[in-house]
Amino acid sequence: MFDVVIIGAGLVGLATAREVALRRPRLKIAVFDKESRVAAHQSGHNSGVIHSGLYYRPGSLKARACVAGAARLITYCEERGIPYRMVGKLVVATTPDEVPRLLELYRRGQANGVEGLQLLAAEEIREREPAVTGIRAIWSPRTGIVDFIRVAEALAEDVRNADGELFFRHTVLSFRSRNGVIGLETTGGHYEARFVIVCAGLYSDRLARASGGSPDPMIVPFRGDYYLLRPERACLVRTNVYPVPDPRFPFLGVHFTPRLDGSVLLGPNAVLAFAREGYQRTDFCWRDLVETLSYPGFRALARQYWRVGITEFWRDVSKRAFLKELCRFVPELEEDDLLPGPSGVRAQALSRDGKLIDDFVLERQRGIVHVRNAPSPAATSCLEIGRLIVDRLETDLPS
Ligand SMILES: Cc1cc2nc3c(=O)[nH]c(=O)nc-3n(C[C@H](O)[C@H](O)[C@H](O)COP(=O)(O)OP(=O)(O)OC[C@H]3O[C@@H](n4cnc5c(N)ncnc54)[C@H](O)[C@@H]3O)c2cc1C
Repeated sequence: MFDVVIIGAGLVGLATAREVALRRPRLKIAVFDKESRVAAHQSGHNSGVIHSGLYYRPGSLKARACVAGAARLITYCEERGIPYRMVGKLVVATTPDEVPRLLELYRRGQANGVEGLQLLAAEEIREREPAVTGIRAIWSPRTGIVDFIRVAEALAEDVRNADGELFFRHTVLSFRSRNGVIGLETTGGHYEARFVIVCAGLYSDRLARASGGSPDPMIVPFRGDYYLLRPERACLVRTNVYPVPDPRFPFLGVHFTPRLDGSVLLGPNAVLAFAREGYQRTDFCWRDLVETLSYPGFRALARQYWRVGITEFWRDVSKRAFLKELCRFVPELEEDDLLPGPSGVRAQALSRDGKLIDDFVLERQRGIVHVRNAPSPAATSCLEIGRLIVDRLETDLPS
């Protein structure tokens, strides 16, 4: 019997568990995850970028959580000796029609309180990154890089140091609420909790439904593949280089990201994954695929954006098409410069009417709260999201 159980040992679950442990040190806390380690899914398969808060609608939860979350994350890394580097970011417009959107991003960044933003002309882009071409760019010095697995490990250590327990290889299968106690059936046995917080990423909708929650929104998995820049060419980019994002989609587009080990990630693209944890093109799960294809929201999305979907699929199978996108920013790249890299799967919440949901979504039930959407930049914002979740539950949590 625990006071609070958190399901999911990704960054959001661990940061939330840590926040509960710090605020209510007397509570008995446990974190359950179906895998054998922390950050096994999105939290350990991402670009590793500490976002500054440039993109998000001013006033939105996402914007506030990102700006405050990035600052807290940096302080946390310093306190815990986790390496990170503020390598900055260029958001580059390569065609005149992208410039108004770039200027809008600049305004957003300023409205969100992102420090140090500068608008650069073509020659200033070259001065900063000689291999990069563009007609205008935003320079964001408050963008960094970190290994989010290291962050997750440190958060888990904090939970353990506060007497919290972590249970791996425990898949939560079902919930039963009786007399103010939630019974949890897991593959590792039966447990009880007075309060449950579910941060299950790619399975957040299934677990919400399993405890009687709404069928909407549904999680649609979008795979993103990366290439790695050939090591001899890694000196081509020293900072993050991002395109101007398409405002219709929550994804930021294929980008260049230096990593702490000196390598450079190129990607990710965004294609429908045929399995929720389908990291390979060939991974396939009937249940996941049928569920996605039969969801009215997915069909509405597909009707609206089938052309974009086909382009993304083409870029997924054709290295040349991927290279073409990258060459918009670094024209001297060649096919041989791209080596196979890692991949990640995004848990994208989709509404019944086909809208890609952009902000965080919480669903509250008696004794349970479900984090139903924690999209990028939730890795950057995890400490702040943990704080916001626990703030909202202040009166519900056992004392
Ligand atoms: C390709 C990609 C690039 C990204 N780049 C960035 C970036 O550069 N910067 C940034 O800030 N954000 C980025 N993000 C977003 C960020 O990684 C995620 O928003 C964040 O990691 C979400 O964390 P989470 O804890 O909610 O989910 P996850 O990390 O997915 O954790 C969910 C956990 O729940 C567990 N779980 C699921 N079902 C069950 C069950 N039934 N029982 C027990 N356990 C269960 C899973 O095993 C998993 O460990 C990126 C994401 C992707 C996919």
